[in-house]
Amino acid sequence: MPKIHLIDVTNRDGVQTAKLGLSKLEKTMINIYLNEMGVFQSEFGFPTTRHESLYLQANLKLAEMGVLKPIRLEGWIRAIASDVETAFKLVPNIRHLNLSISTSDQMIGGKFLGRKSRDDIINSMVEAVDAARSLGTETIGVSGEDASRTDLDFLIKFGLAAKEHGADRLRYCDTLGYDNPFTIYETARALAENIGMPIEQHCHGDLGLAVANSIAGAKGTIDGGQDAYINTTINGIGERAGNADLVAVILAATKSKGFAEKYQLAGSINLSNSWEIARFASYAFGVPIPINQPGVGANAFAHASGIHADGVLKDPENYELYNFKDLGRGEPRFVETGREIIAGQYSGISGFRHVMGKMKVLFSSKEEASEVLELVRYANVESQKPLVEDQLLFIAKYPKIAKKLLTLTPLK
Ligand SMILES: [Zn+2]
Repeated sequence: MPKIHLIDVTNRDGVQTAKLGLSKLEKTMINIYLNEMGVFQSEFGFPTTRHESLYLQANLKLAEMGVLKPIRLEGWIRAIASDVETAFKLVPNIRHLNLSISTSDQMIGGKFLGRKSRDDIINSMVEAVDAARSLGTETIGVSGEDASRTDLDFLIKFGLAAKEHGADRLRYCDTLGYDNPFTIYETARALAENIGMPIEQHCHGDLGLAVANSIAGAKGTIDGGQDAYINTTINGIGERAGNADLVAVILAATKSKGFAEKYQLAGSINLSNSWEIARFASYAFGVPIPINQPGVGANAFAHASGIHADGVLKDPENYELYNFKDLGRGEPRFVETGREIIAGQYSGISGFRHVMGKMKVLFSSKEEASEVLELVRYANVESQKPLVEDQLLFIAKYPKIAKKLLTLTPLK
């Protein structure tokens, strides 16, 4: 039976969001949390963007070291052969790519302004797939941007050409969030049946349907006989109204009425990491989690009215679909209300050793402590907000990787 795989695109679609961004260390932490959660793949960045190069290389090194394992790290580029070449020049050990090009007549006319025909779109894509294959890419996903407004027959032709040239998946991008669960089900099923290749759902929330569409699209793909992939972002952060929220997709796939009896998530997803990953992304992006967000919102397990409170106290299942502990909630949180020593860009060695000592990190020498402190200062310069414990521990454990992440090389 085909399964549903999760590809998180926080480090691509999430950071592309207007007014938001992440530091390279924060992006790395996101990859680490996604890996711990059991997410299949992280679209971890932009291999043709120069300021990403060292971050991408450092994360591939972490994969090599077994720190980012088994998660698959995949880069997003345009489906243009020269972009594939640039990607391999800047990040020679990249092994997984997603190649994207617009497929709808709206975008072919409205973006390329008559310079490209439908045939040109397919040619550009297959040239890029060929280049990626010849340069050693292990898996290739091909994206049809604005696929939901693309003529279905053309999209099938596009997918078949991709498959013929050795692509592994077709990403169906509902770029504008235009689909609804009924239309996306039919389309995903038709694509799976006619192309005979796994289909990836990339859904946006412009009509409030990103999670519902992802689930319906996955069902259509599996009913069409193929493995389904769903693109998510943490807390649904993404362009405009956002993407399908990672935790909500997992909840919908595993807890909604009858769905998991036939349609299952691949691998083992640790739902209990939800609370941690949602809180970190909220902090790193500087975007609060809405109180009514599924699973991780402050009100997700709060009851006030008499009938509900009485009912949930008698039996939580009266008013709760799943337990807060399933999401990793329930541990008390300690907030410092007295003296606080913080490690930052102007910290000295004594305060830093105090902060690290509280986390039971002891340095073998003053030199080692100074070296890690220097990296922490730079990390704080980069993110402009206090580092969380996991970030400090990461820098202390992998100083060489941290140094690479914190090195930005401008154009010569
Ligand atoms: Zn998107």
